[in-house]
Amino acid sequence: MQGSCLCGAVEFRVEAISPKAYRCHCSLCRKQGGASSNLAIIVEAQNFSWITGREHISSYVRPTSFRSDFCARCGSPVPNPLRTTAYYWVPAGLLDDLETLEIGARLYTASKASWETIPSDAPHFETVPKLSQLIELLSPRRQ
Ligand SMILES: [Zn+2]
Ligand SMILES: [Zn+2]
Repeated sequence: MQGSCLCGAVEFRVEAISPKAYRCHCSLCRKQGGASSNLAIIVEAQNFSWITGREHISSYVRPTSFRSDFCARCGSPVPNPLRTTAYYWVPAGLLDDLETLEIGARLYTASKASWETIPSDAPHFETVPKLSQLIELLSPRRQ
């Protein structure tokens, strides 16, 4: 499956995506995406590849290591390697032809916007679970 940014300069491909995404309700993701939460999937690095446009990607990293990669032409958030792990963080809205997507976890619910009501469609975490637990929650084996 392919994904691309708003202007199309950055394109990538993912194979074997997990059927579940997570939403993060933290204050940083609100700023980064401009909405109440982000919606992302986690892809094994071996199942992720860039097609074109890496030269258009800019990166912003906060002192806490929160990182936002984005297309410098259109501002779309774009995938980035999940710190030092063997996974990529992929914004779900960039994926073309995604037919179904469930929410597998909701993170940082304790720091949600006061105006947001979070549905109970997936496990809530006041902060963030261990990466291995998150991956388990998003994996097909949990269905
Ligand atoms: Zn772009
Ligand atoms: Zn967040």
